[in-house]
Amino acid sequence: MLQENNFELGGLGDDGVQANAQDGAGFNNANFATPVDGQRPRCRMYLWNNHDPFLDGDFDSGIIIHEIGHGVSNRLTGGPNIVGCLPGGQSGGMGEGWSDWWAIALQQQESFPPNMAFPMGDYVVAGGIRICACSLLPAAPPLPACRLYVCLLFCLHYLVCLFGAAAYSTTV
Ligand SMILES: [Zn+2]
Repeated sequence: MLQENNFELGGLGDDGVQANAQDGAGFNNANFATPVDGQRPRCRMYLWNNHDPFLDGDFDSGIIIHEIGHGVSNRLTGGPNIVGCLPGGQSGGMGEGWSDWWAIALQQQESFPPNMAFPMGDYVVAGGIRICACSLLPAAPPLPACRLYVCLLFCLHYLVCLFGAAAYSTTV
């Protein structure tokens, strides 16, 4: 999944991510197109024109992880050949939340205090691109903080669904 060679461990290869840095198709965003297993996904990272000079979203690892997260959740929710299960509304919001959670979780360091706020995309937008930042404990002002355990509950729910889908796909 999302790699050229799966080393005979299942799934189709030849679908490494085509990642476009400073893609010219837009500004102030990024996106990830996820085709079915065996077809190459495309990640497009844009410049942010809310600064002078423009900022490059490629320098925010959280945004890149978030976008790759869309590829993972789109491929695994519904199975490798059904990638349209998270189109918008509640399911789309869950996809956004999972991607944010991965981005925040993969950037954690042992030295971080538990009340530290982790805004998404704070390199390109001061304070982040979401209405609140995630934190294990209520974050210090001025950032309002969502509780990380809410994110964890969503993640646990997702993992249960994920393993269920994997078990289903290997037996059918
Ligand atoms: Zn997203």
